[in-house]
Amino acid sequence: MKDKKDHRIEIIAVGSELLTPFFQDTNSLYLTQRLNDLAMDVSYKTIVGDDWTDLTQSIQEALSHAHLIIAMGGLGPTKDDRTREAFATVLERKLIFKEEILKKIEARFKRRGMFMPQVNKKQAYIIKGALILDNKNGTAPGQWLDTKEHIIVLLPGPPHELKPMFEASVWPRLQKLRTDYVARRVLKTAGLTESKIESLIFDAYPKASHLNLTTLAYPGQIEIHMTAHSKESKAQAERRVKKLEKAILARLNDSVFSASGAELEEVIGNLLCLNKKNLAVAESCTGGFLGHRITNVPGSSEYFIQGIVAYSNEAKTNQLGISPDLIEKQGAVSPQVAQAMATGIKEKANSSYGLAVTGIAGPTGGTPEKPVGLVYIALAWDKGTEVSKNLFLGNREAIKFQSSQKALDMLRRHLLKS
Ligand code: AMP
Ligand code: MG
Repeated sequence: MKDKKDHRIEIIAVGSELLTPFFQDTNSLYLTQRLNDLAMDVSYKTIVGDDWTDLTQSIQEALSHAHLIIAMGGLGPTKDDRTREAFATVLERKLIFKEEILKKIEARFKRRGMFMPQVNKKQAYIIKGALILDNKNGTAPGQWLDTKEHIIVLLPGPPHELKPMFEASVWPRLQKLRTDYVARRVLKTAGLTESKIESLIFDAYPKASHLNLTTLAYPGQIEIHMTAHSKESKAQAERRVKKLEKAILARLNDSVFSASGAELEEVIGNLLCLNKKNLAVAESCTGGFLGHRITNVPGSSEYFIQGIVAYSNEAKTNQLGISPDLIEKQGAVSPQVAQAMATGIKEKANSSYGLAVTGIAGPTGGTPEKPVGLVYIALAWDKGTEVSKNLFLGNREAIKFQSSQKALDMLRRHLLKS
């Protein structure tokens, strides 16, 4: 593709089911990612139902503003699948019957001991001038049509058919059209707010047009996404992004927990293994979510001893040995109880670390002194303890996630120092 501006890309997802709350257009996310890997940006995404008028209008519109059009879905044998017919009509090109496709479809049915139903015959038609893209996982072949003005790619809807076809037949052809190389980095941070990050990195924002930096904020996790382009080579794009990454890392230091895509629970797992330490957790308001995240990592049995969900006051006393007086005097959501939970679980599990969470996840149960989102997190190790007071915002789920994130990050920062 020559000039990006003249060569826009549109993805069209065809299927009425994609316009209901029950099906998601996941194919276009996959395609966008793979196109981005080729330094190709998508300008438009359309989801259109199986209605003939809507479909042909969408195609007309796409032809008017995009150069590369990738459409998926609607290549099936049923009456409502009319993507190839709609493209042929709008492009004013004939549909050509291909014996070789029909043979393949028939053979596919034969392998399953069945005769091909007559309805499948329409899948053997391709738009005049199009190349056939073999479908190893289904009956509908894809199509690649270069009209000189447009490149049109038709792909089957089922992801397990679309992906292998894209990789085998579309990717290599798109690769030949690329004019740009791209390299990417994602730095994941915990422990800093978005505005704090902004104040630390604002003067490192790239000015060159071949560099891009975006900050994505999730509750408890802020990510810096960086891309570098090069007209010359992948290596040059890599060098460019590396330089930018270095500048950002120098400003954010150990608030960055991952530059490799790893999640926080994987990072602490690696650190525990490296340090030959193990961990047990005591959870109140996170209700097991912290243990769930830790055990999502394959191999976590190497370092995770146990987790106790001590939700009620009685459970905190019976399971973790916390004195009822302390709970009565300080309240279950207090730095003292968090600390006692951390030391309690550490002793019970005989682990190197005890990590504990107690707080108010809401939406009810808050008071002016102890509002919803107040969460105490404590870490206990052989030589001491640390407690942090947090005021998280958001709904119950967001508060639980942020609590687990802060707990893991406390442990991570401690392990980095030890
Ligand atoms: P079709 O090729 O229109 O017969 O689509 C067959 C099936 O593929 C649909 O029922 C969906 O389950 C799936 N599908 C179609 N389009 C998409 C899409 N854009 N993303 C994810 N799945 C899809
Ligand atoms: Mg369909």
